[in-house]
Amino acid sequence: MNNKFNFITCKAAMNRIKYTERIPYRYDLNAYRGCTHGCIYCFAIYTHSYLENNNYFGEIYVKTNIAEALERQLCSKSWNGSIINLGGVTDNYQPCEETFRLMPDILRLLIKHKNPAIISTKSDLILRDFDLVAELASITYVNVAATITASDDNLQRVIEPQGVSTTRRFAMLKEFRQHSNASTGVHVMPMIPYITDTYENLDQIFATTREFDLGYLITASLNLRGQTRRVFMAYIRKLFPQYAADLYNLYRDGHLDKEYKIQLYKKVSELYKKHSVSANYVTRLKRHFEERRTPIETLLMAYNS
Ligand code: SF4
Repeated sequence: MNNKFNFITCKAAMNRIKYTERIPYRYDLNAYRGCTHGCIYCFAIYTHSYLENNNYFGEIYVKTNIAEALERQLCSKSWNGSIINLGGVTDNYQPCEETFRLMPDILRLLIKHKNPAIISTKSDLILRDFDLVAELASITYVNVAATITASDDNLQRVIEPQGVSTTRRFAMLKEFRQHSNASTGVHVMPMIPYITDTYENLDQIFATTREFDLGYLITASLNLRGQTRRVFMAYIRKLFPQYAADLYNLYRDGHLDKEYKIQLYKKVSELYKKHSVSANYVTRLKRHFEERRTPIETLLMAYNS
């Protein structure tokens, strides 16, 4: 695929996002707009519908001043050292990062300010920055997570054509798990009905997570909001026409059919038990910050609650 790159500047590196129990951070940082990984289920497409030509997978906006913008925010008196999610609506380690190298400066700033971070990626390009991530993890909380949807590399290539193979993602996580202080985890997101939510596929992902002792595994079913529904269904008609009618039925209003979802989560719950894998992502984060809270902060929390 021929990609087009546009070079832009940003006023702020971090965006404030809505805090929920499932998303335990308030800020994310996206060094790029658009993403060439080209996942057929890309949830982020709807956030980019304002881009001029809707070419989310092919036209990438590179935020050339992201490090300076981040430094300004981290130095601001109002900055509270909150955890930053590196990514969110793009993959900061998508292939063009090899050329533009925005992440090393971002990591150096986080080290300088001892600022905790979560990094989620579908690439092992992050291993290039292993020393920086490990240094940050030696002084504050760092979580390295990989999204893994298909245990089989051939299936992975079909649904995430530019992401690195599942085998390489697991190897990347193993490296961080064994040789750094970063916590690691697997995000099985999304589970696509009929295609990646089969018992065999999920069982294998759980088994490898357990084998490599990767900390935790969390799951989410597929949601088809806005533009994502149209793009996803077009891919399904082309790549998996045998499932098209059933998927239309399951996603009549963009959300997964309730009864199907109940059965899916029963299956997932059995697998947690079978493999003794933890789903303990949010609790771990909370515990980390509670341990670091000063007595005054604890009093204020109690007063405000
Ligand atoms: S890696 Fe994430 S942002 Fe990039 S195409 Fe895939 S789902 Fe979209």
